[in-house]
Amino acid sequence: MITQKRFSIEIFPPKTKEGKDNLDGVCDTLNLLQPAFFSCTYGASGSTRDTTFDQVADMISRGIDTAPHLSFGGASENDILDLLTRYQTIGVKRIVALRGDLPAGVDGAHQLAHADYLVTFIRQYFANHFHLEVAAYPEIHPEAPSYKEDIKYLKGKFDAGANSAITQYFYNADAYFYFIEECQKQGISQPIYPGIMPLNNFAAVARFSERCGADIPRWIAKKIEGYGDDQVSVDAFVVDFMSDMCRRLLDGGAPGFHFYSMNQIEPVKAIWQNLALS
Ligand code: FAD
Repeated sequence: MITQKRFSIEIFPPKTKEGKDNLDGVCDTLNLLQPAFFSCTYGASGSTRDTTFDQVADMISRGIDTAPHLSFGGASENDILDLLTRYQTIGVKRIVALRGDLPAGVDGAHQLAHADYLVTFIRQYFANHFHLEVAAYPEIHPEAPSYKEDIKYLKGKFDAGANSAITQYFYNADAYFYFIEECQKQGISQPIYPGIMPLNNFAAVARFSERCGADIPRWIAKKIEGYGDDQVSVDAFVVDFMSDMCRRLLDGGAPGFHFYSMNQIEPVKAIWQNLALS
């Protein structure tokens, strides 16, 4: 059993009563794995502001440590201050601080307040109350001017007061290892947790990967394509190759993982148990 590393699980807020009931069951089951915390996403431009808050509040009231994701989006500083104060009041201790994206198809993301600004803002008003996570990109953020500049901006988020980072998902462990080396060369010493996105819903992940700049290696795409409609074989392959990748990451020094659960129990549970994470 691996106990010194940190393993966390991401969910997104439900849209319907049915979705909420399903998610409660998912969280209760995944909570038995004893993750360090759950995190709950924040829709583009704050579109899930209330549902993210409600989900986080509900989980905290049930004794499940949960961190909201947050970005300025189109909100005013007063609105964000108010939201952060409400989070503090209900017992939130950790925030995933982001720039966020605009809804799909809407241009102008470059006008959004960068995450380093949100980190500075939170530190200004709440000192060290919150542990702040920020996003990192081993395969480099699609809007970044260059590999080096993206790492410089990540360093800016740490210099502003972030405690640790969670990466965009990737399927190539070497991309992560190389990135960590380059971050260290630029003076980053804080932990950077790999984000692990199971590939079971291949079509959806492939579509999203084109937008967020994550590379799906050709051999993986071809292998999954070869299974056709045989989802049982896809699931088995995904658990197998992702467990191998995670093992390699841990052996190579990764400080833990952040699993993108997509509000599903499997395959996070299977990978977790394969690796005897906790
Ligand atoms: P930033 O750190 O601001 O970076 C964005 C771009 O600007 C990068 O290209 C960077 O190189 C550049 N940059 C950074 N700082 C500066 C600066 N000071 N000046 C000029 N350029 C700069 N999105 C959501 O909408 N909701 C979520 O809940 C959500 N959760 C996420 C969780 C994780 C773990 C990750 C990895 C991503 C998540 N995202 C989420 C996606 C994220 O919002 C997008 O990737 C977004 O495009 C960038 O957010 P960021 O916080 O990395 O932005």
